[in-house]
Amino acid sequence: MTGPLGRVLVCGLGVSGAAAARVLLARGDTVLLADAGNPAARTELEAAGAVWLGAVTDCPDDVDLVVTSPGWRPDSPLLVSAARAGVEVVGEPELAWRLRLPLADGEPAPWYAVTGTNGKTTTVTMLEALLLAGGRRAVAAGNVGRPLVEVVTAVDVDGAPAFDAVAVELSSFQLHWSSSVTPAAAAVLNIADDHVDWHGSAAAYRDAKAKILHGAPVAVADAADPVASALVAGHPHPVTVTLGEPGPGQLGVVDGVLVDRALGGGELLPVDALQVTGPHNVINALAAAALARAAGVSAGDIATGLAGFRGGAHRTVQVAVRDGVAWVDDSKATNPHAAAASLTAYPRVVWIAGGLLKGADVEPLVAAVASRLAGVVLLGRDRQVLADSLARHAPAVPRIVVPSGDDVGVAGVTNGTAEAVMVQVVRAAAELARPGDTVLLAPAAASMDVFTDYAHRGRAFADAVRALP
Ligand code: ADP
Repeated sequence: MTGPLGRVLVCGLGVSGAAAARVLLARGDTVLLADAGNPAARTELEAAGAVWLGAVTDCPDDVDLVVTSPGWRPDSPLLVSAARAGVEVVGEPELAWRLRLPLADGEPAPWYAVTGTNGKTTTVTMLEALLLAGGRRAVAAGNVGRPLVEVVTAVDVDGAPAFDAVAVELSSFQLHWSSSVTPAAAAVLNIADDHVDWHGSAAAYRDAKAKILHGAPVAVADAADPVASALVAGHPHPVTVTLGEPGPGQLGVVDGVLVDRALGGGELLPVDALQVTGPHNVINALAAAALARAAGVSAGDIATGLAGFRGGAHRTVQVAVRDGVAWVDDSKATNPHAAAASLTAYPRVVWIAGGLLKGADVEPLVAAVASRLAGVVLLGRDRQVLADSLARHAPAVPRIVVPSGDDVGVAGVTNGTAEAVMVQVVRAAAELARPGDTVLLAPAAASMDVFTDYAHRGRAFADAVRALP
């Protein structure tokens, strides 16, 4: 652990900001807090000795380090003022990297890190399962699970570090503010346009993601993703994963079995033994296996870990089969790239789509999936954008539009309203579906125009399906 950091300004008291402040206070550093609200965190941290600055826009002169939160854009006035004053700005993962406790051999627990536009949480939680199957004291942390700063300083009852391997999910925001994080192996799953507004450009978004490979001895990517595979191609030890037969340096699929031809070799397990569905989850499993191989986990332990992995809530979860129709909740498909992955897992789909598109281009998605569509139900504020695209690419596919989400940002969109919208959506989908079809909630859009978040949307869907007559 490093020596005193001095006076540290923590910007934003969300989960990771509050965790950073707690750890810094426990180390004896001076902690200043900047946030517009957050009374609960404020009370707790002030009681522990932190100094509350509130919604300041100028960085105080005597600050040695700024720790910022993912929600804060780089152009927010306080961060611009810190940069102008020459004060270093880091994210919570970079702070955690600097504060890691050494294990018995003197080295801190290695990080096995994952980023990408989609599939991060699934891959990282799979990786945690594989590391645990391999006998490591592993934990998933970062953009999923516990904050990194908490995990790297956690100790067991004997005072020894609690974990000896960390499966780390890093978002592009977190990577933007990281400078020295050096994973023991890293994966960039895929890169599609997302969060371009925060980063300023698609190139800046890609560059932030690429930082995860910094110094990592092994770099993993999906071979089918042109941007991600180009990033790892320049790396000293690239490993790619493929749904096809793997060549040297790849993990892939041979006769229905996951096979490693890159990191020790060997058969891992049959695709059918996975409890998660869809080609995208095969890619996630191969990427997690590659990182676990880099961590020294055996092929047998990887097979055990993958076979026991059940997948996360609202990520391609089958919630019911009724009258020969399967109902699948992929509410976490909040952008077109994610929706494309889950739609291509099913031959005939009644697709439930719409919400806040965040300016994303839906044309490539709609064109790619048009031939699979048995029907479409549209909801949410940006439903017309999807309707226009469907009129161009799938004019004959029956469509039902459920007006909703137009009063986004206006108080009055109550939970009751949200549930009522979903009941209409599900009834419309039931009208369109025939035996053998899959009804898939993969909205390609964020949910906050109608729902609290993607989990609320997914729960409302499952409840409405169960309530069908
Ligand atoms: P993230 O943490 O990056 O948001 P998740 O694992 O939570 O990723 O998955 C989010 C959604 O992205 C899933 O519900 C699915 O629709 C889609 N998805 C998952 N894995 C992949 C992948 N490898 N490629 C493309 N889309 C994916």
